[in-house]
Amino acid sequence: MSSAVTTQVTELQNYINGAWRHPSSTEFFDVTNPATTEILARTPMSSSADVDAAVQAAADAFPAWRRTPPGERVQYLFKLKNLLEEHLDELSRLITLENGKTFAEAKAELRRGIENVEVACGIPMMMQGYNLEDVTPGVDEMQIRQPLGVVAAIVPFNFPAMISYWFLPYAIACGNTFVLKPSERVPLSMIRAFELLEKTGLPKGVVNLVNGGRDVVNALCDHPQVRAISFVGSTPVAKHVYARSAASGKRMQCQGGAKNHVIVLPDADMELATQIISDSAFGCAGQRCLAVSVAVTIGDAQESFRDSIARSASTLRVGDGLEPGVQMGPVISSESKRRIESLISAGVGEGAKAILDGRNTRIPNHESGSFLTPTVLDGLPPTSQLANTEIFGPVLSLVHANSMDEALDFLRRSPYGNQASLFTTNGAAARRFRYEAPAGNIGINIGVAAPMAYFPFSGWKESFFGILHGQGRDAVEFYTESKIVVERWSRQETRKF
Ligand code: NAD
Repeated sequence: MSSAVTTQVTELQNYINGAWRHPSSTEFFDVTNPATTEILARTPMSSSADVDAAVQAAADAFPAWRRTPPGERVQYLFKLKNLLEEHLDELSRLITLENGKTFAEAKAELRRGIENVEVACGIPMMMQGYNLEDVTPGVDEMQIRQPLGVVAAIVPFNFPAMISYWFLPYAIACGNTFVLKPSERVPLSMIRAFELLEKTGLPKGVVNLVNGGRDVVNALCDHPQVRAISFVGSTPVAKHVYARSAASGKRMQCQGGAKNHVIVLPDADMELATQIISDSAFGCAGQRCLAVSVAVTIGDAQESFRDSIARSASTLRVGDGLEPGVQMGPVISSESKRRIESLISAGVGEGAKAILDGRNTRIPNHESGSFLTPTVLDGLPPTSQLANTEIFGPVLSLVHANSMDEALDFLRRSPYGNQASLFTTNGAAARRFRYEAPAGNIGINIGVAAPMAYFPFSGWKESFFGILHGQGRDAVEFYTESKIVVERWSRQETRKF
């Protein structure tokens, strides 16, 4: 296929065994630009037969790929990095078209994806094992890491390009072969990225892409030749994938949903806190799994933070993410907009006051787009249902607490543990927070505590199911099997040399 992405409505294909192929299914899902509702392409809802073809291609490619020296394997990633850099603007534009986030946000997303390709280029060092001579006289012991075989990743809509790179580069650099299932809502940027992968000359079958939804996911979970699955998406689906894949003995890492808290102490630099928390809550229209969703103010911070966040959020320019100067794009779909609007109404019903209300937003010339303006719900009761419900939209709830103890208790009651942040100028408060906060990614005066590629993305509680996280050293452990060799050679043999 020359280019899967054109200005006409294209029926997308799968990439299997080094070629673009029509799926066996005749069912399609419309990919819609959320700023305009224009249909950009149609995603095939592939079947288990398509999954089987991709897994078979990956299984056939595995023996030769695992024997390719790691130093040679990463040469393809160096080429990929250069191609991604060369096509940065083109790919970012696609991300904006299919997802709605602004062009600047799309570029930043891709940059974080490329960072993972760069880190995976260090596999010849990172994949090394360790050894010890003379564990008993004349006996040596070593640990070596070997690839698993065929591995798969299933990813969500909110970072159409970046999240696939939390997995793909590490998986193949470690010697595995790979099957990706993008979100059916935003397949375009990964299809283009696979066209670039093709240009690296990667042997056929090493990477494969199967478009689709639930049937593809379930077929991957059940497939006996898939050894491991990385999943990112909502908590109910993460749990489903974790349990279903366990039934066939797979290794799993499943990242789920989130409800992230920031605690604002009265001694915080309020101007800095406001700017950073506003970026975190409303950037990418709140559709980031590390977006701050609840700000817990303590003492005098209640009034000062409430006033400054409302002022700052009200100035954000909302519109089509491709237009210069736009700071916040639409949410992913009209259903999502309606769901967010009804959650805002639920919060108001539970006693919060909408001091900024983004419901019923209409953007001139984009009347059909899925836009909301930033919403701030003041005084959300900590015991309300909304306080523990993931909204995944541009809504910041304000909860008041009398002390750090009370705030930390509130955080402990949250089912999620993706991220928690603190704004303060007090080192002791910061240390206490780092020590006690019940989440896996912690920010101190940081709004989006997104781990760099060389650190694991460490969600906790209902935000993560598994042990080894994506990215960094965890990725190498996840994508390799540990083998221990205990070795003795007779002394007589040794003396001959
Ligand atoms: P989603 O759970 O609806 O979809 C994720 C993937 O699962 C998609 O590829 C989709 O096709 C598939 N899927 C959907 N429903 C399924 C079902 N019933 N059975 C089998 N497969 C199914 O998530 P989404 O709406 O695409 O993404 C938003 C969610 O992802 C939010 O909850 C967000 O917090 C979460 N997320 C988490 C992280 C993290 O690092 N923890 C990162 C990004 C997004």
